[in-house]
Amino acid sequence: MAGAGREQEETADYSDISDSEFLDLEEPGDSEQLSSSQSRPGTSKGNPGQEAGPPGGPKRKWGVDVQTPLERLRLRYLWVTDLTSQSWCEQQMVFSKELPGLQAPERAAVMDLGASLHLARELEVHDIMTIPTATEEDSWAIKLLNILTMIPVLQSGGRIREFPVFGEVEDMFLVGVIDELHYTPKGELELMELKTRSRPLLPLAAQKDKDCFQVRLYKYLFDAMVRGQVTPAGLVRHVQLRPEQPLSPQVQDVAQKTGFAEAAATLGELAELAFLRLTLSDLPCIDRLQLKYSHQESGAALGAELVAFEERQVRARARDCVAYWKGQREPRGVDVEEAWKCRTCDYTEVCEWRRRGGAVGQGHQAKKPK
Ligand code: SF4
Repeated sequence: MAGAGREQEETADYSDISDSEFLDLEEPGDSEQLSSSQSRPGTSKGNPGQEAGPPGGPKRKWGVDVQTPLERLRLRYLWVTDLTSQSWCEQQMVFSKELPGLQAPERAAVMDLGASLHLARELEVHDIMTIPTATEEDSWAIKLLNILTMIPVLQSGGRIREFPVFGEVEDMFLVGVIDELHYTPKGELELMELKTRSRPLLPLAAQKDKDCFQVRLYKYLFDAMVRGQVTPAGLVRHVQLRPEQPLSPQVQDVAQKTGFAEAAATLGELAELAFLRLTLSDLPCIDRLQLKYSHQESGAALGAELVAFEERQVRARARDCVAYWKGQREPRGVDVEEAWKCRTCDYTEVCEWRRRGGAVGQGHQAKKPK
């Protein structure tokens, strides 16, 4: 691994497809996906947590702009991958949100390929129904229906893919999608996250670090959900949903067909049922976190890694990420020792951090927690 070379690491930020969240980034009010089998899990394509952007585009001047980044981008919640992208280069993540037009086309192509591979894997364990959605409440209803259909599969020891997770981490509402959950021969509940790589090489430390943070956040969210620490009221409040909003006839129809007719009328009813089933399910917290790497083109396995979990460290790192979103500090670019990341960045031409010499020129910035 260590000998895989810097060239690989330099391109790792986007040659290494993150996860099933890429399947989940479509605009709300379009369509959502649900497992067509009650015995197997489904996916929900989701709401990016973003309202329409402000007219005239985002303001960038720190000290002049009184809005926090969350307010400026009109975000109500973040994706887990937003935080993990911050781990790679926070400034790059900010540019990707504010200047998406500068992104190299090959990045989108690689991400599309990775998303297709995740979709193919999902189809291995269940069929997918695409359901038209009219409102954000419809979109979240499909997420909840996916959870409701997956609970019994997991209870009976089955394997599920694309499990939606969400909840509060350090006062920020996060949303994600767990790639796979299954039980090991020893009966441990294992989260498995597949990473597909454009090069047939394992990633080096910086990329793996980002991947580890991602699965740790998923465990944090999943565990909170099964412990009953995530509530319908919290979901409604953070995402600003309307619990009394009647679900569309199409979503109500799906709820009835999947056996949840008693809660098919409104999002509030469905949320109450989903959280009740989750907390009464006796599902355990996640015991093991595993990352698996495979080559995109050949599908060849490249290696696997078990990831340790320490809640205090995960929260400290999440807190540091959240501080940017709440406007408590400026965005950071890469540290000097990771300046090689800039060589393949799409934003080198516009990046002030890089022009000033990175962390050297920003000596007042605190180091990010590891
Ligand atoms: Fe980050 Fe470097 Fe890109 Fe700037 S040029 S956004 S510091 S990777």
